[in-house]
Amino acid sequence: MKGADVIVLGAGLYGCVLALEMRRRGADVLLLDRERAILKRASYVNQGRVHRGYHYPRSVLTGLRSRVNYPRFLEDYAECIVPGGQSIYAVARAFSNVTATQFEIFCERIGAPLSPAPMSIGRLFDERMIEAAYLVEEREFDARLLASRLEADLRSGAVRFESGIEARCIRRSGKGLELEYRGPADEGTVAATRILNCTYSGMNKLIAASHADPLPLKHEVTEMLVVEVPPQLGPLGITVMCGPFFSLLPFAPEGAHLLSHVRYTPRTSWTEGPGKAHRDPDAELDRLRDTSSFVHMIQDAQRYVPLIGECRYRRSLFEVKTVLTASETDDSRPILIQESEKLPGLVNVIGSKIDNVYDALDSM
Ligand SMILES: Cc1cc2nc3c(=O)[nH]c(=O)nc-3n(C[C@H](O)[C@H](O)[C@H](O)COP(=O)(O)OP(=O)(O)OC[C@H]3O[C@@H](n4cnc5c(N)ncnc54)[C@H](O)[C@@H]3O)c2cc1C
Repeated sequence: MKGADVIVLGAGLYGCVLALEMRRRGADVLLLDRERAILKRASYVNQGRVHRGYHYPRSVLTGLRSRVNYPRFLEDYAECIVPGGQSIYAVARAFSNVTATQFEIFCERIGAPLSPAPMSIGRLFDERMIEAAYLVEEREFDARLLASRLEADLRSGAVRFESGIEARCIRRSGKGLELEYRGPADEGTVAATRILNCTYSGMNKLIAASHADPLPLKHEVTEMLVVEVPPQLGPLGITVMCGPFFSLLPFAPEGAHLLSHVRYTPRTSWTEGPGKAHRDPDAELDRLRDTSSFVHMIQDAQRYVPLIGECRYRRSLFEVKTVLTASETDDSRPILIQESEKLPGLVNVIGSKIDNVYDALDSM
């Protein structure tokens, strides 16, 4: 494989967008992923919410950044946005970290519009469980369309993309870096001046194999349910806030909805960082794939929206969700861009939601 000025590891949204940006700045760029195509992991297996801030009432900064990035994403990827539909945020009466009044004040502070949900929608909730329901302006993206769009961008931007290539480790070589890889047909090394590590849940595995310092990350193996909803819920995306509740959002790639539950979606979680043992997220993912919490998820969610009991379960999607451990205290979603001290030229990039990609772009 021919070397490059910049090698970008991981062809999720972050890797694709940063590879395009490096190319736009004139670098010769090589993008590598171990999957057979782009956007096969977390950038596909997620709830598809383009965050506008509503979801983060405990972190004003994350709320504000989302509000700023939201229109940018909608404009840049207009053809990937799911058309129509209505987004509802409801505040639970018990165990919520915010009250309805606090949620309203937060939305006003970050400039995110909301209005009381109309009666026809309010009636879908059990009023003993829900304090208030709001109609908000927040959209979802279709990950399949996003993948097609990015594929076209990579082609027209002349970014070289090689699939099926697993990055094994990185080391210094002369004035630059050398990546050891394993591909479908061969294994070998390839040189670059700079390597961007955009491997998300795979990030610390690669860092550990390269004898560099691991990042402080929290991994969760997650399960979301692909469900067919009854017609009354068809056009709606529902989020119950703010604590051990759930979201039921349209999942355009499969013409269905995705149910995610704060209590049951994370099937196991652990933190890692300097001085902590590394656990392979993909091994944990494989270990849990054959078991499901769907009964608990449906049973709990239908206490708030009784019609959820009529959803038809299709299948579960499993994926590793990785966030910075710093997010734990206030549920914030910052990005991290860090050049390795031990391997200068290796830059680790992780953003914990889709729209953060603009924060990464602006900081590069
Ligand atoms: C259950 C769940 C729900 C979510 N919901 C939302 C949401 O509604 N809205 C939102 O904004 N965000 C959401 N997120 C977060 C969002 O999905 C991620 O922040 C985002 O997709 C990360 O993009 P990425 O490109 O960094 O990672 P990925 O898309 O995972 O890309 C990383 C790539 O690196 C590759 N890779 C890994 N290791 C190696 C290696 N050694 N060699 C070669 N390639 C490698 C992988 O194959 C993968 O393609 C959710 C995440 C999860 C898991």
